[in-house]
Amino acid sequence: MKQRRRERERARQQGREQERQGAQGARNTQNAQGAQDVQDVQNVPDAPGDEKDVAGVPGEEEVAGAWEALVATARRMVSDGLVVGTSGNVSVRVGDVVLVTPSGVPYDRLTPDDVTGVDLEGRQVLGTLVPTSELPMHLAVHRTTDARAVVHTHAVHATAVSTLVAELPPVHYMAGALGGPVRVAPYATYGTEELARNMLRALEGRTGCLLQNHGTVTCGATLDQAYDRTAQLEWMCRLWLTASSVPGLTPALLTPEQLAQAEERLRTYGQPGR
Ligand SMILES: [Zn+2]
Repeated sequence: MKQRRRERERARQQGREQERQGAQGARNTQNAQGAQDVQDVQNVPDAPGDEKDVAGVPGEEEVAGAWEALVATARRMVSDGLVVGTSGNVSVRVGDVVLVTPSGVPYDRLTPDDVTGVDLEGRQVLGTLVPTSELPMHLAVHRTTDARAVVHTHAVHATAVSTLVAELPPVHYMAGALGGPVRVAPYATYGTEELARNMLRALEGRTGCLLQNHGTVTCGATLDQAYDRTAQLEWMCRLWLTASSVPGLTPALLTPEQLAQAEERLRTYGQPGR
């Protein structure tokens, strides 16, 4: 815990140093205003709310809150049956830090002291537990999209579908909530950059995809949104498997136009302003 505090303090100091240098540059051209900036930066208080303003370094309370939400999401994956044991993983971005589930630790044993975080290049900046082996997939999403949260599971129906088709047939309009028909990323060994590349291609224009013979990946603005998309994806896969397993009958599929219309309506679905 002390070690982590020191690390965070060091990161904050670095952030302040960068801002101070920036402010000094401004002073050279704008004299009085620049001097005021330096004054302000030197007086940065330690109150939690103020820390996040410093060069992408999140404050301690912000990190603690995001970690709590991440652990709750990871536990929910297990209790909802989307993964078994320590399979699957979750990440959430706070400033320029990506909090991730650690590798091989049962989610019900994670405590507030186990905060695990990396920067966008994958260098560990918080904690001592080894980050998830699927770090390349999580970082690929955080680096290239504006998503703030990523959920990866081995949900059984979705994984079954990933072994059968290259794209989940559009049996339901909820595919629109994921940006269109859900693609299956070609197989690659877990934890590799190759898998991360395949996944990114499958995710283009989508907020979810399947990984062949492996599982699901969804992303969103929040952990709840990313998780809900996983649940919807698993449900749609179960629906298609159920409908397509009736002997002698083939499920009707939605046309691209029908799907596009649903997607349009889904954009404004829900309570305005909530
Ligand atoms: Zn996996």
